[in-house]
Amino acid sequence: MTTKDLARMLAETADLMEVLGESGFRVNAYRKAARALERYQGELEELRAAGFASLAGIGKGLAAALEEIVVSGGFDYLEELRGQVPPGVSELFAVQGLGPRRIRALWQAGVDSLEELVRAAEEGRIAAMPGFGQKSQQAILEAARFALANVRRVHLSTGLESAALLLSDLAGAGIAATLAGSLRRRLETIGNVDLVTTAGPAEVAAALGEHAREVRGGVVHGALEGLPLRVFCVAAGRFGSELVRATGSETFVASLGPLPAAADEEAVFAALAAPAPPPCWREPEHVGLEPPQRLLAEEDLRGLIHLHTSYSDGSATLRTMAEAAVAAGYEYMVVSDHSQTASYAGGLTPADLERQWAEIAALNAELAPFVILKGIESDILADGSLDYPEEVLSGFDVVLGSLHSHFNLPRDAQTERLLRALENPHLTILAHPTGRLLLRRQGVAADWDRVLERAAELGKVVEINANPWRLDLDWRQALRYRDRLLFSIGPDAHSPEGYADVRYGVWMARKAGLGPERVVNAWPLERWLGG
Ligand SMILES: [Zn+2]
Ligand SMILES: [Zn+2]
Repeated sequence: MTTKDLARMLAETADLMEVLGESGFRVNAYRKAARALERYQGELEELRAAGFASLAGIGKGLAAALEEIVVSGGFDYLEELRGQVPPGVSELFAVQGLGPRRIRALWQAGVDSLEELVRAAEEGRIAAMPGFGQKSQQAILEAARFALANVRRVHLSTGLESAALLLSDLAGAGIAATLAGSLRRRLETIGNVDLVTTAGPAEVAAALGEHAREVRGGVVHGALEGLPLRVFCVAAGRFGSELVRATGSETFVASLGPLPAAADEEAVFAALAAPAPPPCWREPEHVGLEPPQRLLAEEDLRGLIHLHTSYSDGSATLRTMAEAAVAAGYEYMVVSDHSQTASYAGGLTPADLERQWAEIAALNAELAPFVILKGIESDILADGSLDYPEEVLSGFDVVLGSLHSHFNLPRDAQTERLLRALENPHLTILAHPTGRLLLRRQGVAADWDRVLERAAELGKVVEINANPWRLDLDWRQALRYRDRLLFSIGPDAHSPEGYADVRYGVWMARKAGLGPERVVNAWPLERWLGG
């Protein structure tokens, strides 16, 4: 358990209290404590030793409750509240823009699930409710549809972590199983977990313990992280065929025709006289496309592009970030703290930039041949301009431009905004282009063909942001532009640990069919930015 887990529990408690009609002092106390824990930077044990009440925002009563939660590993009061709110009502929290009070109002009006919310909005019943209106009904309808499509999915990173634990549990019981399905394809979000093994179903079910529910036709069904879990128990002579079947998207597998029986995947594709596509290359979008000769690998990356330091909202100093990049074997890094308008993230004033550039010069002398490039993650302002005057912009080696606000502009205005940013000669990289947060927030509406077409014409780089919550640009768009656009893989790291996220970006690049030729941070620095 971490302080962040405790923060989440308290925030959920406050939410459910409000949904159940409580308000005022007690709810506020939970919220304040949740925020204090969320912001706390140290370790849980440190805080316990000092006493929870030593943290401003946590009162005596809650401090005792927190201590109990840590000791018992659970929170009875929260469990009790969860028991009073139907699960379908709790799911309404997944709808962007709905807080506990509006959820309470909806529940009282008979809306007790996402499906029912979509139906009510479609039938115009939400607009008629006090405090809602036509405009918020439309916004709720769109957000509810999005939530409905995503609520029973998790991020790739979450799915991989849980599956790794499960696989090691199985291995501990002497069962070798192989990851299949969308996890093996490295899809950006996961709706189920599929494994293939040659072990028997009874043995597998016993090893899965509480994760197993029933055995049907040689398949053990169960659940992992709330996702449906299936373990296909197959004969050794058909392991390859069943792995191909269980890995590919349905459309892709169907495109292969009848699968011959074989013990491994290579033999299956050899018998089909088809080139064996890597697992990531088995989506519906890949049907009919030649598998690429050479896909990007993590080892191809020479530089880290897009990272934050304690100059803005990163948690480590510039020196720590640079030394970690050297230790990880990179040749260069582009530091890209936030620009001045991003005051919520400690955006840099021109005076801050002077200090940072001086430190970069000193570190470059010390760490050579490693190179730190002077970059910035500049907000793209509402009108498409960048966040500094000309004379400041011309001082950067690399300018990343990002949308961090005004996500709801009309499609035409958003398109013009992005196009204007691209036309700016100082802009090097369009970072997390759509601003989406997977499972949370849809990307902005824009004419992406116009935007990406123009980026290709101007030779601008488009980022595949590797943060597992973003993975933006979407790989499907990148796939369409794989022969024309240049890309960068950006970890968007806020600490040295964040560098490891590049692997998610590399997986998305592979799904898009990109090789090192198309990814600027796989190039030697001179090739990208000149000598
Ligand atoms: Zn950003
Ligand atoms: Zn960033």
